[in-house]
Amino acid sequence: MTGARVVLHVDMDAFYASVEQHDDPRLAGLPVIVGGNGPRGVVAAASYEVRKFGVRSAMPMRQALERCPQAVCVRPRMARYQEVSRVVFAIFNEFTPLVQGLSLDEAFLDVSASREPVARIAAEIKRRIRERTGLSASVGAATNKLVAKIASDLNKPDGLTLVTPQTLRATLDPLPVRRLPGLGGKTTKFLFGGPSNFNMEAHALIPRSFNTSASGRLGSRRRVSMIIQSCKFSRNSASATK
Ligand SMILES: [Mg+2]
Repeated sequence: MTGARVVLHVDMDAFYASVEQHDDPRLAGLPVIVGGNGPRGVVAAASYEVRKFGVRSAMPMRQALERCPQAVCVRPRMARYQEVSRVVFAIFNEFTPLVQGLSLDEAFLDVSASREPVARIAAEIKRRIRERTGLSASVGAATNKLVAKIASDLNKPDGLTLVTPQTLRATLDPLPVRRLPGLGGKTTKFLFGGPSNFNMEAHALIPRSFNTSASGRLGSRRRVSMIIQSCKFSRNSASATK
């Protein structure tokens, strides 16, 4: 990717649940749900073991426990997650000052100025995270944030996915367009009339769609603004490399 913008998206794998499994080895390998287990409790994080039962974050705890009655429920320890997050973000800052955090466990890193090959940078970030936290992260690398974010999700957990301009279409085209960050079923239906693949025509449609008044109908403001930001970044990065 010489000369082009190089963006990494680093995302810790099942972050809260992985911290709990790391801190309490008795939880290792078990279906762990982090969240409140009161009548209105919601799943804040699900370990990979419990995801096999169809448990997902943001699911009502009652429903999660119907799907996996043997799950171990753990109350969130935000202070601990913040502590681990600080370690992870300190590692990001060892590679670039251009770090944009999205949450405690997720960030974009612009490493365009680095002379190292991007695959080596990504592998070294993962190695330092594992060394200092005992946890795994997945990294996606691309020439813009949107694709980097999609890429980090493709080989989770412990993934490292590089998308170059040459492999962009082969990587994106087979994917359901729902892989776009923040895009849910309703939005997909609204934009594409139903489930759609990430083919070039759909791909070309997306930035335009999200920049029209259509955005008013696309669910929560936060999700919409995130998608728009991703799309804007794609355009900005094209001009920034000139
Ligand atoms: Mg994560």
